Amino acid sequence: PRRKNGEEQVSPNECSPGLLDLHSFDTELLPEMSVPGLYDGPPMNHLVRGRSFDDSDPYFGNNKQTGKARVLPESNVLKSIAADNVKASNVAKIKVVVRKRPLNKKELTKNEEDIIETYSNSLVVHETKLKVDLTEYVEKHEFVFDAVLDEEVSNDEVYRETVEPIVPIIFQRTKATCFAYGQTGSGKTYTMKPLPLKAVRDILRLMHHTYRNQGFQLFVSFFEIYGGKLFDLLSDRKKLCMREDGKQQVCIVGLQEYRVVDVETIKELIERGNATRSTGTTGANEESSRSHAILQLTIKRSADGSESKPPRVVGKLSFIDLAGSERGADTTDNDKQTRMEGAEINKSLLALKECIRALDNDQGHIPFRGSKLTEVLRDSFVGNSRTVMISCISPTSGSCEHTLNTLRYADRVKSLSKGNNSKK
Ligand code: ADP
Ligand code: MG
Repeated sequence: PRRKNGEEQVSPNECSPGLLDLHSFDTELLPEMSVPGLYDGPPMNHLVRGRSFDDSDPYFGNNKQTGKARVLPESNVLKSIAADNVKASNVAKIKVVVRKRPLNKKELTKNEEDIIETYSNSLVVHETKLKVDLTEYVEKHEFVFDAVLDEEVSNDEVYRETVEPIVPIIFQRTKATCFAYGQTGSGKTYTMKPLPLKAVRDILRLMHHTYRNQGFQLFVSFFEIYGGKLFDLLSDRKKLCMREDGKQQVCIVGLQEYRVVDVETIKELIERGNATRSTGTTGANEESSRSHAILQLTIKRSADGSESKPPRVVGKLSFIDLAGSERGADTTDNDKQTRMEGAEINKSLLALKECIRALDNDQGHIPFRGSKLTEVLRDSFVGNSRTVMISCISPTSGSCEHTLNTLRYADRVKSLSKGNNSKK
């Protein structure tokens, strides 16, 4: 069978039972593919767009099987390693993609109009405006990005487009960050939540195959920034402090870090963190739309490759579900608390853009100190780093203004990286 090529069997005494059952991963992901050789179509390295999806399982669940075999590559990550195609320099420093969510039930019932026309890497927003004489006209706004993922694109495909290419290079002293930006309700959490789990699946594959017995270990932490303060989402929202050591390394004092040895562990931790996040003091959505949630996967390794010495950080992959971008505009609200939080969010989103810009220009000075968010991410902005921004947008006319704001922010980040390319 094809899938066995290059995949070594691991003897059971090297890991606890069930720890490394690659075949069960595949089965879980792809019922059809559990019979080796069943799929005889062309190689599937490109995106395959599905017709329908099902969000009942926020992790693996995506595309309902629609008769045709929907095929995931066995593991692109292992394949790319095999093809020796993992040089960090081959992976773009900054990638900006847009994801448009489908109309929801309420919007469909109200017969709301979808104003976003998508193409593979561009989109057009149809904005309805009024003339002075109150007649309507439509203004079109076109944007170009690295990729535009429409409402039919599944979470698996989002993963393949955004995070998958980065996974191999975090074994090579690279820090990478994936952000979801957009207004509340545009699909940031829906998009971000499954990504770390899928990444862990691939990281563990690499650790158990290509980098087998090389002393790599995987850790996870999960915290949020709310009103400029840090809270541990894996430790009952314990308040945390940030310090800088003599070598200007950021350190979050007391942040819980768990070792990850299997997919189940991380699944549970993500669930726990997300539950902790949304049950804040004043109730669900309000709270989480005002906080940035940061999940970090850290790869460490002991100096001599064994597990006897304390391991040191090799690479890091951060997933950031940003506060609702519209919250940055809450600076004129009647409530002082809300105003202050809005100002902090505004500051952090601006600082983030500036840091990405500095990163892309290889600027010596990176303006971390602009906000808590960027201070915390400091080590991901120095040295060899990669950034993927997923801009989430809602499809309806009611969201038009926020959508345009999101796309302009993304465009700004994108045009920065274009500027860099033309210099080369
Ligand atoms: P945000 O985190 O940006 O506030 P959510 O991720 O909570 O937004 O998404 C809002 C709602 O829309 C949720 O009910 C979510 O399940 C749904 N949703 C978002 N994106 C998609 C998508 N691509 N496909 C199906 N449902 C989606
Ligand atoms: Mg959310």
